[in-house]
Amino acid sequence: MRSDKKIIIAIDGHSSCGKGTLAKNIARSLGYMFIDSGAMYRAVTLYLIREQLTLDDVRNDPSILQDIQIDFRLNGDGTFYNTYLNDENVETLIRTMEVSKRVSEVSTVKEIRDFLVDQQRELGKERGIVMDGRDIGTVVFPDAELKIFMTAEPEVRAKRRYLELTEKGLGADYDDILANIRERDKMDSTREYSPLHQANDAIILNNTDMTREEQARLALTWAKGVIMAQ
Ligand code: C5P
Repeated sequence: MRSDKKIIIAIDGHSSCGKGTLAKNIARSLGYMFIDSGAMYRAVTLYLIREQLTLDDVRNDPSILQDIQIDFRLNGDGTFYNTYLNDENVETLIRTMEVSKRVSEVSTVKEIRDFLVDQQRELGKERGIVMDGRDIGTVVFPDAELKIFMTAEPEVRAKRRYLELTEKGLGADYDDILANIRERDKMDSTREYSPLHQANDAIILNNTDMTREEQARLALTWAKGVIMAQ
């Protein structure tokens, strides 16, 4: 008999390996909410750049963060969640290289992580959610019923990100992107608070030689299997 119990699906992994695309596909197929936790770190980064605040400013006075309101709103045709920062749609602005270059340093700050992890847990309290990031299966939702850890060769990831940025009309340089991916992987994996690592109970998905459709089909099979077993 099919279970109606809603689960949490945590998708973690390296930078630019299609976690968001996969998470969106699964969420759409299951009628679940999709949350891009990286967008939250990017929105905080954009806010700090704009307000010319340093990471020490935040460490010295974490209450600064209370001025940051992040939420996700469905676009007009209901197919895509846009990230809003203090009521402004910043979905495109948070994907620029300027933000990409700063975000991993911003996300090493414990005060910022605590601030966002609280909000992420709140978003998932009804379950029925697919969240992607770096610490979702290890820290945010260690009790997630399905955890997927994604990776792919850095060059393949850089090529995909290059195409994505140029298609959006954003300036992109392949070598710059590859260097940024390597740098973020290193920083994310070696930071003191909530470093990126595979949860013991996560399934590895290496999509170097997979199409989006293939990986979506595979992950959906896993998700349905877990839901049926509830
Ligand atoms: O997923 P995305 O690449 O957009 O995330 C941007 C950055 O935010 C990552 O490189 C990582 O440094 C940080 N991040 C994080 N924890 C998460 C999600 C993202 O530290 N859960």
